[in-house]
Amino acid sequence: MPNTAHVTCPLCEATCGLSVTIEDSVVTDVRGDHDDVFSRGFICPKGVSLGALHADPDRLRAPLVKRDGEFVEVSWDEAFAEIDTRLRAVVAEHGNDAVAMYAGNPSIHNVSSALYGPVLYRAMNTKNFYSASTVDQMPKHYTSGYMFGAPLTIPIPDVDRTQYFLMLGANPLVSNGSLMTAPDMRGRLKALRARGGRLVVVDPKRTRTAELADEHHAIRPGTDALLLFALVNVLFERKLVDLGALAEHTNGVAEMRSLAEPFTPEAVAPVTGIEAADIRRLAAELAAAERAVVYGRVGTTTQEFGTLTSWLVDVLNVLTGNLDRPGGAMFPKPAASAPASGKPFRHGRWRSRVRGLPEVFGELPIATLADEIQTPGEGQVRALVTVAGNPCLSGPNAGRLDAALGELDFMVSLDVYLNETTRHADVILPGPTPLERPHYDLAFYQLAVRNVAHWTAAALPSELPQEWRTLLRLLGIVTGQGPDADIAALDEFVAGEIARRAGVEVADAGDRTGPERLVDLMLRAGSYSLTLADLEAAPHGIDLGPLTSRLPDAVTTASGKIELAPTAITDDVPRLAARLGDVPNGQLVLIGRRQLSSNNSWMHNVESLVRGSNRCTVQVHPADAAGIGLVDGGRATVSSAAGTVELPVEVTEVLRQGVVSIPHGWGHDVDGVRTSVAAAHAGANSNVLTEDGPLDAPTGTAVLNGIPVHLMPA
Ligand code: SF4
Repeated sequence: MPNTAHVTCPLCEATCGLSVTIEDSVVTDVRGDHDDVFSRGFICPKGVSLGALHADPDRLRAPLVKRDGEFVEVSWDEAFAEIDTRLRAVVAEHGNDAVAMYAGNPSIHNVSSALYGPVLYRAMNTKNFYSASTVDQMPKHYTSGYMFGAPLTIPIPDVDRTQYFLMLGANPLVSNGSLMTAPDMRGRLKALRARGGRLVVVDPKRTRTAELADEHHAIRPGTDALLLFALVNVLFERKLVDLGALAEHTNGVAEMRSLAEPFTPEAVAPVTGIEAADIRRLAAELAAAERAVVYGRVGTTTQEFGTLTSWLVDVLNVLTGNLDRPGGAMFPKPAASAPASGKPFRHGRWRSRVRGLPEVFGELPIATLADEIQTPGEGQVRALVTVAGNPCLSGPNAGRLDAALGELDFMVSLDVYLNETTRHADVILPGPTPLERPHYDLAFYQLAVRNVAHWTAAALPSELPQEWRTLLRLLGIVTGQGPDADIAALDEFVAGEIARRAGVEVADAGDRTGPERLVDLMLRAGSYSLTLADLEAAPHGIDLGPLTSRLPDAVTTASGKIELAPTAITDDVPRLAARLGDVPNGQLVLIGRRQLSSNNSWMHNVESLVRGSNRCTVQVHPADAAGIGLVDGGRATVSSAAGTVELPVEVTEVLRQGVVSIPHGWGHDVDGVRTSVAAAHAGANSNVLTEDGPLDAPTGTAVLNGIPVHLMPA
């Protein structure tokens, strides 16, 4: 008899509820759950492929150890014995900082690694922690930390009630939302327009989201901060600043006025490519809208001024009185969240050894990991632990990082695939598929446009240990308890710490263990006093209502007020001001692009996701193509200061002239991987072209957009 499991899709931030039909342990159907309280039946092609992902014959089903350059399957005990010997040898000889850790994007979509990964990292006691956050989102954590008091206090567009949505560098119709958990963004944006609201998209490309908008502005890549500053300038100039109820909770309004003075619409128009008259009109519309929100995403945080752009997005929300009010940018109230430290946010508590880059939110920039591996001296990184990460495709200057990983003394990876990064590992520890593990979206309910909670039990049994057990065995090794440490005792310790910080009793969770116990404790300590049993009794999730105003409690700065102009941010303004007058010189620049059927780098081994339109091409404007001699369907070499790739040409008018676009996550044509479908649809690695030198100055986040490139017919 088939049975149906109701699960939360953990693949992207949208958190869709899915109905999965299973017959004799085989997934026969995956569709959107129409009764899900949040997604109401929405599903995308990636969600449909969960069964194919589970059944992928290339997926690793046993630990691998490299012997004489070849991977061989070994028992779990053998794998951990190898790690115990070799990882501890590196630490004994070179110290804790010689071991780095990298957490990839999927690790935050997995409740095991989201909860137990940080425990392992803290036990490693190394300064060298890296993650995908410094690829694309650290500026938002940084500005939220300094403006609102905590890096996870991120205001989210109240998309279902807004009347005016100004969106920069985001394409949620394809990405399905980022730092904005909102299943079915097409439906939500159509509803916005149907109720008389207005959608304005600013993006160098006429994306699918821009196609849906009332208005699209094809901005020059990397100049969003200038446009936003000009909007601030106009608000002050025309006396349109109106904080409303925010006034008593906000510091720094006068500083903003003077900071914005040089950024007049006339000054920024030639640099951004947006007419001064349009900038004045947009500012007036934003101020006049009954309920409005400004939102920026990946395109705005993967550029040289990512921090300033992220900051100005929220400055505009405050100056127009739209922060923390329905229809504006609001702070979600999740049912379960990690207890906050209570300490004021600060960065730079340590610096990277080679380039002196500051730590932010406990991390060093991935852009400097290759420096740390390849530069000899005390503290040189000689070993690496990766958790669900593929930085050889997703990190900047990927060619250099790929070479650097080959120079390590030892590397261990937790991953379901032998891929472009894990091929450098000495030991690979596989984990269960999304359908074989329980799930609760700890991170993304914190970013959701509606307060919801949904627990997913594992839909299928797994022959592999859950990641939390694997992570605790690694914890046993790095803490000197050896590869056979008492996992139950370690888990008891972790639960005790969570309970102590949350102010609840471990015993309240009964005989639960692992993530179930931790989530139960966090729910009990949360705003709604739920328990895991409450969620288990609600297979379609629990709707906790629309976002609500949370000031002043949500703001935890030292002053207790929103800091509009903290020096940790405004110190970077002169660098931006120096770009006034920086007009286009005819140089082609590269931007990335999202694809509906791609999930960064790791789902190209599913046949259904690499068919049809999901192709790795370089998109070129017709005028640029004609000037270079490129034709649609031909091939081009694309070169930057970092490297060269060759790939098919797609001539299209959707791009701003002077801009070319390549999607990221491709480039599967390397030796030693075990992903046969991906290899047959290899594509080119766009991060061979991105550099690890230029960074967003305050946060060290990689610059992946606006890269100068040269194209030639191949
Ligand atoms: S939009 Fe995201 S969460 Fe929803 S089905 Fe697709 S991949 Fe899963």
